[in-house]
Formats: sequence, structure tokens, C-alpha cells
Amino acid sequence: MDTTTARAFSSRLADLLSREQAAMADFLAALADFDQRRLWEPLGYTSLWLYLHRELGLSKGTAHFRVVAAGLVARFPEVEAALRDGRLCITSVVELAKVLTVENQAEVLPRFFHRSKQEAQAVVAELRPREVVPRREVMTAIPVRPVELAIPLPPTADEAHASSTSTPTPTPRPAIEPLTADLRRLHVTVSRRFLEKLEAAKDALSHARPGAEAEAILEAGLDLILAQQAKRRAQVKRPRKVESPVEAPASVPAEVRRAVWTRDGGRCQWPMDSGEICGSTHRLELDHVHPKARGGPATEENLRILCEPHNKLAAWLAYGERWMGRYLKVRGLAQDAGSVRWPGS
Ligand SMILES: [Zn+2]
Repeated sequence: MDTTTARAFSSRLADLLSREQAAMADFLAALADFDQRRLWEPLGYTSLWLYLHRELGLSKGTAHFRVVAAGLVARFPEVEAALRDGRLCITSVVELAKVLTVENQAEVLPRFFHRSKQEAQAVVAELRPREVVPRREVMTAIPVRPVELAIPLPPTADEAHASSTSTPTPTPRPAIEPLTADLRRLHVTVSRRFLEKLEAAKDALSHARPGAEAEAILEAGLDLILAQQAKRRAQVKRPRKVESPVEAPASVPAEVRRAVWTRDGGRCQWPMDSGEICGSTHRLELDHVHPKARGGPATEENLRILCEPHNKLAAWLAYGERWMGRYLKVRGLAQDAGSVRWPGS
């Protein structure tokens, strides 16, 4: 594989990314200065947010993020530094702003480093748990045209007149809402059929777990799925039959399959360029390191676990492009592989 080209590309991307982060930090520092001097006023705007939206053409949500971030940058130089080197993400700054104070910044700020918006919400919930968390089981009918009602709207221009820093968050409600360190509220839309099954399961468990709530019923169901899966994994299913004339289904003895599974920890062993392994647990197959078609034995030493894409790649490398190219074309995958030339092909 052409690792040199990939490495060169990757370092160019890393360079562009760090320039983007630096530009964002520069922009926010300048914006904070602009706001402190209220320079949007002589331009005819009533707030920084309105200036960003109308004059610079940012969307309402993006303008809101910038206003909040500029406010933080003005008060906390550490925030600017963290945005500049990429430790802090602009989308989690709105969450950070809810809890950051001069007193707690040394402890609180690092907890938001490398967090997504949703992870940042979880940190906020942990730092500032809602005082009383109601355990709710609510069933609501879905309105015929739900979209306009379900999502809180971004501030209107009039609302933004009021203040440049207290505009409401314009993002839609997430499906998982952190409440405390441990509790989350999950919003799921289900069918009537689902509710009937839930009721039936509740009835079935009415002796073992009288009065169980929906969470307990669903968790019991999930436990069943996971137990079943663990049992199946322990037996290690025969590898998925690869639809090719060469890699016919291997007749690997059960004890060898179990030994390989245990040794590889049930994870794809493909070596990545970084020196780590792929580690995927999805669609796993048994792979002959020395190909079976070339006399590779079905022994513990010659077998390893690979995920399906890496097993395909291994076959590609082993059997060459001509054969696999025909095979992939049949599977409609040739586009992915079209321009790639593996060595030895
Ligand atoms: Zn893999």
C-alpha cells in the first residue's frame, strides 16, 4: 500500500486543520475586541449577534456560537489558547459558558477538552445536576406536522435586540439529554406495535418483577440480547462464507476457532500504519495469514480474526488485483478500488 502518499496527505490535512483552528482563535479574539468597543453600534446594529448575522452573513446558530465564544475569550485567555490548539471545540463552548467561572476555571476548563457537544452537555449535567430529576414515562401523540413544533427556534432579530450575549441556544433537542452524572433522558419514537409488545412483556414479568417500569423491562430485554450474543461469540461462528472461488468456507476445528478467538480478544487484528490494530468487533471473520489456496493450514498460528473489510483487503493483497478486481466489479465495489494499485499486482 502507498503509505508514503497517505502520510504526506495526512500531514497536509493536519497542517490545514491547525491553520483553521488558529484562524478561528484570531477571529474570536478580534470579535471580542470589536464587541468590547461596541463597534457594531456605529454600523447601525443593535447587537453583536445581529451584526454577525446580517453584516457577515453567518447563520443564526453560527452567529450565536461566535457571540458566546467571543464573550468567553474576552474573559478567559485560556479559552482562546485552547481553541487555538484544538483542545476546545467551538460547538462545546456554548456548554462551557454555562458553568465556567473565574474561581473554577483551572478545574472545569480541562474537562471540556476534546469533547463533542453532547459529551460537553454531559459534563455540564455532572457539574450542575438538575435539582430534582423526575423519572418520567410519557407517551405523546405525534402531531401530523411535527417539525416546526419539535425544534426550538433560533432567536429572531427582535429577540436578539435585547442583548448580544443572552440569545437562546438555537440547536435542536438531542435524542439523549444528560440529566445528572448517571441519568439520561432518551427520546424515542415508537410504533403502536412496539407499545403493545412492551405491555405484553410487562404482563409476562408481572410475577417476577411486579410494577416494573419501562426502563426495567427494556433493560431486561437488552440483557437477553447481549447474553445470547455472548453465547454465540463463545462458540465462534464459522466465518462468513466469502463468495469467491478461492476462499471457500474453511473447515476449521471448533477448538482452533475458540483458541484464535480467545487469543485475538474477539477483535480485528489488522495492523494499522499507526502501529495499532484495527480492533473492530463488527462483522468478524477468520482469515488465513498464509492463504488457504496456497497451502496455508487451518492452525491457530496461521489464523487470525479480521473484520470483513480487512479480510477483503487481505484477499486483495494475497490474490492480486486482476482476480479481485473482477470480483469487486461483480459486487459493485470496483469504484472504491478503481484507482488504487497494490504492489505485486
Ligand atoms: Zn478491521
